[in-house]
Amino acid sequence: MPLIHLLAACDQRCVFCSYPAEAVAPEGDGLASWVAALKVPGLVQVSGGEPMLADRDALLKFVLYCAGRKRRVELQTNGVLLARLPEAYFRRLVRAVGLSGGYFNVNFPSDSAAADLRITRTRGAFAARSRGVRRLIKAGAAVRLTHVINSLNYRRLPAFVEFAADRLKGASWIQFSFIKASGRSDGGRHVPRYGAVSPYLVKALGLCRGLGLACETDHIPPCFLGGFALSSVDAKKLSYGEKGRQLAEKAYVAACRGCRMRNICPGPRKDYIKVHKTL
Ligand code: SF4
Repeated sequence: MPLIHLLAACDQRCVFCSYPAEAVAPEGDGLASWVAALKVPGLVQVSGGEPMLADRDALLKFVLYCAGRKRRVELQTNGVLLARLPEAYFRRLVRAVGLSGGYFNVNFPSDSAAADLRITRTRGAFAARSRGVRRLIKAGAAVRLTHVINSLNYRRLPAFVEFAADRLKGASWIQFSFIKASGRSDGGRHVPRYGAVSPYLVKALGLCRGLGLACETDHIPPCFLGGFALSSVDAKKLSYGEKGRQLAEKAYVAACRGCRMRNICPGPRKDYIKVHKTL
């Protein structure tokens, strides 16, 4: 599936930012270069930097172009600017993403303003993001909440589920995605051990199940997911025989020898192993 970095700029400074240092954002080329990237089939992941900082008309045209060619769009955003978009434009964008059969993927890293500030290093982002997500839901958009697990938020994973169920009611699903030690992130500084995260994550997944809130996990090996091994995006893909670019980012380690889940797990991320040496 194509992952299109519309631009490199962003209005946040997240400790987990995985914008690839080697990526060249097609700034200046705009719409034409985005359309050219559509040669690759599959879901069109529109990313940044922050896509909502791109030229608004070009962004809307691009989403409509995708919808017209029956290409499903995932519009990735930190959600901050959504609350401030003029109503007419906001409605057209929501309609265009919906027409494509797609959804908004909002990176939502915390259940509290204080923790959000430590993670995104951006004042006022939590309140704006919350308003943005509620506005999307009210307008009928499909919304995925991506919660990047890092050393500053993993103990509050169950609290985040309660917050999402209560304050962001109507979101379609939550993805718990483990931080990558790459891109603009602070190296390995905020990468916790899987074992430390596991009890909080398993509790959070149990809460989702109890609340009827759809969820999935990414970049966390199933051996740390308790009874939720099949919540793993990799596990689902591998069970269907699907292979994606993310598999190349992973490798088995000595601890994987003899593991009965190798058919649904490609191993931990290589950048995690660089930081922690083993699982
Ligand atoms: S293959 Fe390795 S990382 Fe994957 S579940 Fe087994 S032990 Fe865990």
